Amino acid sequence: MKKIDRRALWIAAVVVVVLYSAVAAIRCSVGPKVGKPLKPQGKSPVEVGHNPISKIRLGQEFNDMNDVQLEVAMKVGVDPVENRAAAELLTDKLVPVLDNSVYKVDTLTHSVPFLTKGAAQLLLTIGENFRDSLLRKGLNPHRLIITSLLRTEEDVRVLRRGNINASENSTHRYATSFDIAYARFDPQNKVKGCKDGDPGQMKMVLGEVLRDLRNESLCYVKFERRQPCFHITSRK
Ligand SMILES: [Zn+2]
Repeated sequence: MKKIDRRALWIAAVVVVVLYSAVAAIRCSVGPKVGKPLKPQGKSPVEVGHNPISKIRLGQEFNDMNDVQLEVAMKVGVDPVENRAAAELLTDKLVPVLDNSVYKVDTLTHSVPFLTKGAAQLLLTIGENFRDSLLRKGLNPHRLIITSLLRTEEDVRVLRRGNINASENSTHRYATSFDIAYARFDPQNKVKGCKDGDPGQMKMVLGEVLRDLRNESLCYVKFERRQPCFHITSRK
């Protein structure tokens, strides 16, 4: 009797393992090709306030040079990626960057919407902190506008052909960097008790957010003048 019980147990265990493996295999083969985009957390609401806006000399404050950014990008980023299709296959290293409640992705001309997990998390944190900061200063919410993400080797060749000043050593090739516009923001539903901030004020609020994260050694930041954007490289 005992022997039969043991054999039945063995058979049951084997059946369970086989079924589990089959289900896992099916889920892998039909699952999404790329990792899931990060979504903003449902944090507790922020009280509307009147916190003052700092005055930051953005050009002086954010002047991390390319060689410094490049060193960390090559350390924590991916190897340069040939094209969009190749990026889509790097499911364990890259996550897609799609519009959400705190930022929107502009029409990308020379990059594809992917970042490393660390850079995607940093971008999300910047968007959430910017939203909360605007409210604390009594300014209506706006989404950030992302103008550049992962630059593939195909993009680099196109840029070179067009004689556009595209550094072949751009940190964007390593999926660790992104550009956030500072002259344009995407207005959201107005909030009672808030007023519309002008672009200059919102640029300063974004500067405060970036300064805090940079002080925590989470990123390098360059205030670009040729294109009105912050060029940011994640250090994680
Ligand atoms: Zn950039």
